[in-house]
Parts: sequence; C-alpha cells; structure tokens
Amino acid sequence: MAAHKPYIGGNWKMNLHVAQADVLAQKLAHRFSRSEPVDLVICPAFPHLQKVGCVLRDANSPIRLGAQDFYHEPNGAFTGEVSLSMLEDVGVSAVLVGHSERRHVLKEQNQLINAKCLAALNAWMQVIFCVGEKIEQRESNQMDRVITDQLTSGLKGVTSEQMAQVTIAYEPVWAIGTGHAATPADAQAAHTAIRSHLAKMFGHLLSQTVRIQYGGSGNPKNAAELFAQPDVDGFLVGGASLVADHFLAIIDVTR
Ligand code: PEP
Repeated sequence: MAAHKPYIGGNWKMNLHVAQADVLAQKLAHRFSRSEPVDLVICPAFPHLQKVGCVLRDANSPIRLGAQDFYHEPNGAFTGEVSLSMLEDVGVSAVLVGHSERRHVLKEQNQLINAKCLAALNAWMQVIFCVGEKIEQRESNQMDRVITDQLTSGLKGVTSEQMAQVTIAYEPVWAIGTGHAATPADAQAAHTAIRSHLAKMFGHLLSQTVRIQYGGSGNPKNAAELFAQPDVDGFLVGGASLVADHFLAIIDVTR
C-alpha cells in the first residue's frame, strides 16, 4: 500500500555518546519542514533522549522523538526501568515494541510485549510494533505462522480505533544488522501475509490503512527496490540511521 504516507524510523540502538547524538540530530532536524510528505521518527538511547528532544524542538522539526523501550507499569519499584510518562516528559511520542533484540537477546515474551503495547497505546504513544522470523523458522516454512502468532498475541486487546496509532515493522531476524536484507519479493510476501492477518484481526478496510515498514539491513542501495513493493510503506533503519547521509538517502527514496 505505497499510497500511504511513508513512515521512516531510525533506531540508534546502544550507540553514540551524547555529543555524537546531538550532532546527528542537528544534521537531521533542520532538513525537513512541517509539510514533508513523509513521517519520521528517531529513537536514541535513553540518556540521549532529552538532548535530542531539545534539538528537534528548537529546530521546530517534524521528526518525532521515539524510545527504544520502556516498562509498562506507571511507576514504582522497578529498578532500572523507565515509564511511559517519564518518556512523555522529555518529549517522546513514539515507542518501539517487540523489537527482535528485545525478543531474542533480552528474552521478552509475548505476554510482556502485549502489556507494553497496550500501555503505550493507552498513553497515546505511536507504537512501532516489530515482528519477524528467525532463519531456521524461515527455512522450515514457518515464517507465516511466526509473524501471525506475534501479531495475534502482541496486539491482543488492541481496538480498531487504537490501530490508528500502530505501525508494523517487518524485521526478519536474519536480516537485522547482517548486511543481508530480504529480497524485495520476500519482503513483499511477508508484508502481504501481515496485511492479510491484520484483515482477519481488524477487518479488510482497516488492514489497508496500517503502514508496514521493512527493517533489516536497509540501506541507500536497496531502499528504492524495496520501497517499490506495493506493501512496503516505509523503513525501520538501524545501522544506516547512524550515518546522517545514509539515513537521508533512504528517506529521499520515499519522498
Ligand atoms: C533494527 O534494528 O531495527 C534494524 C533494522 O537494524 P539494521 O538496519 O541495522 O539491520
């Protein structure tokens, strides 16, 4: 559904120090006007949120400030965790949920992912909900089952109205950070499977309005071919979003 306004996210992961995050944000913040035909979000690490938020605000930038993670409880004895209202306080209006590194490295289970998703939606955050299969699941033809399970359990209890706040990111685990992106045909097949499962969950009409980003070694070279696929509505970008010129080149493909 490339007719949607494209949505590009930059996931800076556990990279940079505050001065570097500041420089990167400055390079991006001034490049876009409020009338851009593309929605943008950048997700710095927690210690950089406040600084990057100030940069975006001072530049009157249309780029949203996103967080890579949070805890779903509102406050209390959760040492090391960060709540949604703390994030909102520093200007965050979008969050990643279900990223593959949270699922597979930090061992987040579907129940927690669902609790996070519901908490973020109730806090009026935009949610980028990530799904994707591991290589062994793809090779044993389980891709469809894995991503439909992730959608069914992660979006349990989400209302049709709340789906307006949700973007799906298809991020095959084997493509993230490996330099081996999905082929355009494979990405399209997965995005079609996601959209048809969303149709079962929320109805055909709504499924047509949800944006589905591709993520996994997206770069300035492969972005155009991927974006040419009818169901690729944008990108979630990791490594390439740390280099302003690369991230800007990917954004340019969609404008
Ligand atoms: C990501 O972490 O969401 C991602 C897509 O990473 P990369 O672009 O580095 O594969």
